Amino acid sequence: MKQIVVLSGKGGTGKTVMTGALAAFVDNKLLVDCDVDAADLHLLLEPEIIERHEFRSGHKACIDSGACVRCARCFEVCRFGAITKDLQVDPGACEGCGLCARLCPVQAIRMAENMCGEWFVSRTRFGTMVHARLGAGEENSGKLVARIRQRGKELAIAGKRDWVIIDGPPGIGCPVMASLSGVDAVLLVSEPTCSGLHDAARVIDLGKHFRIPVLLAVNKWDINPAVTETIERYCLDNGVAIAGRVPFDRSVVDCVVSGKTVMEGAAEVVKSAVADVWQNLSQIVTGASERNKEAV
Ligand code: SF4
Ligand code: SF4
Repeated sequence: MKQIVVLSGKGGTGKTVMTGALAAFVDNKLLVDCDVDAADLHLLLEPEIIERHEFRSGHKACIDSGACVRCARCFEVCRFGAITKDLQVDPGACEGCGLCARLCPVQAIRMAENMCGEWFVSRTRFGTMVHARLGAGEENSGKLVARIRQRGKELAIAGKRDWVIIDGPPGIGCPVMASLSGVDAVLLVSEPTCSGLHDAARVIDLGKHFRIPVLLAVNKWDINPAVTETIERYCLDNGVAIAGRVPFDRSVVDCVVSGKTVMEGAAEVVKSAVADVWQNLSQIVTGASERNKEAV
């Protein structure tokens, strides 16, 4: 079983459109949507939830008003302003440091586990998907990504899947690191814009750091062929293989608006470009694995 993560360095390059296309195109795979802060793969895949789990992480102070003697010690010591003047805890401001609970003279404060999101296993028209939703303003998205990656892997092994296709989070922060752990390759989806090269370079650096092969696909390559060539040259100079180019076509927008993957409704030129990306990617990943076996 091989795991591929689709990354972009930032949002809006067509990363999720590419993941959706691979979801429709690749056989015998399991899907994991690691964009837990602003998931949108579900808009294309319309998952039917079959498992729902709470995600708990960290703690928040909780005052027992019956036991509280209203000394206001907690209000005075909280450096985050999380205790209001009327001695209520503002859960959004509480950092869970536990100082108030330690200093309360009558032990009226307990530290309660924080429910900060949910994760799901769902059925889609392209197979099983594991995904999640982090509560507004909540942190620990890296931990939640690690949780759904783990569940995705377990299900893929149990179901004898050949591939796990992961829609990675935008950026290069903690959730991206969690989405990279243990993958066989990164598919970097870039676009030929001024920031495209900069964002691609950040993902390439991450791949180098974690020693994970990165392959490039330029989305809407024909809106600026010169910049596409610059990005591809940069990639080749940095040991990144080119998986392919996907052209701009109005039919892609129509697919997104109507909640379809591009493999279900875009022009043939787009579908065949995605098929080429997958063929190149899968050949390199499985070829690398065969070479590794021979070397053992
Ligand atoms: S420190 Fe304890 S007793 Fe004092 S106000 Fe806070 S909760 Fe109430
Ligand atoms: S746990 Fe820390 S941050 Fe939260 S209310 Fe108590 S002192 Fe403030």
